[in-house]
Parts: sequence; structure tokens; C-alpha cells
Amino acid sequence: MSRESVSNRALGAYLGFACGDALGATVEFMSAKQIQKRYGEHRDMVGGGWLALDAGQVTDDTQMSLALGQAIIDHQGWNLRAVADNFLAWLDSEPPDVGNTCRRGILRYRDSGLLCGSPSEDEAGNGACMRNLPVVLATLNRPDLFELWSLQQSHITHHHPLSDAATLALGRMVSLLINGQGPDACLLEAERLIAVHAEFAYKPYPEKASGYIVDTVQTVLHYFFNSDSFESCLIATVNQGGDADTTGALAGMLAGARYGVEQIPPRWLERLDGVVVERIRRQVEELLRLAEIS
Ligand code: MN
Ligand code: MN
Repeated sequence: MSRESVSNRALGAYLGFACGDALGATVEFMSAKQIQKRYGEHRDMVGGGWLALDAGQVTDDTQMSLALGQAIIDHQGWNLRAVADNFLAWLDSEPPDVGNTCRRGILRYRDSGLLCGSPSEDEAGNGACMRNLPVVLATLNRPDLFELWSLQQSHITHHHPLSDAATLALGRMVSLLINGQGPDACLLEAERLIAVHAEFAYKPYPEKASGYIVDTVQTVLHYFFNSDSFESCLIATVNQGGDADTTGALAGMLAGARYGVEQIPPRWLERLDGVVVERIRRQVEELLRLAEIS
């Protein structure tokens, strides 16, 4: 597997993730019917939505990923406290959106120094899963480190077996794709997930796309496995509504890794926040460099 194709797919994953965030944020919390009524089909990065975003602006999904990635790069490896500190600095920067569970976990860290909350029934949201891509990139050739770092960063805010299982499964899928495997390898990974946690079964698709990790994963897998291009995967995913920026981001991550960066429509890449694009390009390079030496 050539180094160029690995970095191309890694960049596709991270930029695809940010595109899904920026595209989906416009229709976050709308139902599929409401989206259809208002947009016909939502397919352009126009901003707006309940957060009144600029066109191409990203939200917490991408910002928390960047915060996590930066902590890994700054410490040339894993430093959980640095990750939590970066989450806290991000929260202090008054971001446009913060999930409730993320806020609670970060404030718990601020107030008590705890890097891991107790397992909690109400922490089965998608907030830990959504931000894990930098860990995948930095541990591309180290499944043991991937698992450890993924769970540790997750438990700062989300400590729930379904969140853990989904974070690891989606992370493994994107790493398989980046390493040159096809969707069939991802299907096996999905089957493994469902064999342990039957909740995640997505056939027939239940058409729920909320921030509950089960709804999120079902939506992402359904549209990822039932589309044949980056663009059609993202459009179908976000038009399902619900937690559309997060389902869009995760679908964009998988599709970007599968199809490569050149399949991301130029009209989206050009509209995407340029500062974010630059940070992503640098992080991909530096995280992959770490993956090579670890
Ligand atoms: Mn968001
Ligand atoms: Mn969201």
C-alpha cells in the first residue's frame, strides 16, 4: 500500500468528516419531512440552521476532533490530561454548539480533575464516537493503542458500553478503508458489532437519526453501505435529518476514506471554512507521521 494512497484516504476521511458536519448542521434537528418541504433535497453548504452558521462553518464535531488531534500532536503521543485540557479550552472559547453530555464531562474534569466518569446510563450519546478520527490516524498501525486511546478519550465525557462499542467499530472501519480495504471488510466489522450488541442492527433501517449512538450508527451504516459515491452518501445521510451534522460527519469520514479526497465535490471543499481545511491538512500529515514511528 503506497504512502500516498494512505494519506489521500486519510485526508479524504478528515475533510469528508468536516464536510458532513458543515453540510448537515443546516438541517440538524429537522425531520426528513421538514427538510424535504423546505429544501426539496438539501445538497449545498449554505449555513443557517438552528445555530445560524455561516456557509461552510463547522460545529463541535470537527472542533472537538481538532482539539483532540492537536493534543496528540503537541505531545507527540498520548497525554490524556492534555486532551481534556484542550476540550476545556475549546469549551471556554464559547463554541456555537456543545452537546450536554460533553459539557457535563468537561466541567466535571474542570471541577474535580476526573478524566473518567463512572459508567452512566445516560451517556449513550454519539459525542465520544464523533470526535475519535485523530486517534484512528495516529494509531493506524497499532490496534492496541487505538483501543486504549479511543476508550480513554471517550470516557472523559461518555462512559457507556454502546458508545464504547460504536467508537471502536467505526474507528476500525475507517482504519481498514484508509489501509486500502473495501466496504466488505467494513461489513464484517459491522456484523461483529451487531453480534455483540444487537441494538445496532440497521436492516431494515429504522429511520431514526438522533444523537443516541444506536440511531446515529444505524443511519451512518445504512447510508454508507447503500450508496456508491461520496456525494450521494452524504446527501442521503443529512437529508434524514435528526443529528444531521454528526451523522453527516461520520458518514463523510467513512465515505471520504473509501473514495478518496478527489471524490469530495469541489463546491463543498471550496465552501468549507479555509482555516479548518488548513488545520485538517496539517493534522493529517502530523498524525500519520506519528503512526509511522509508533
Ligand atoms: Mn455538531
Ligand atoms: Mn450534532
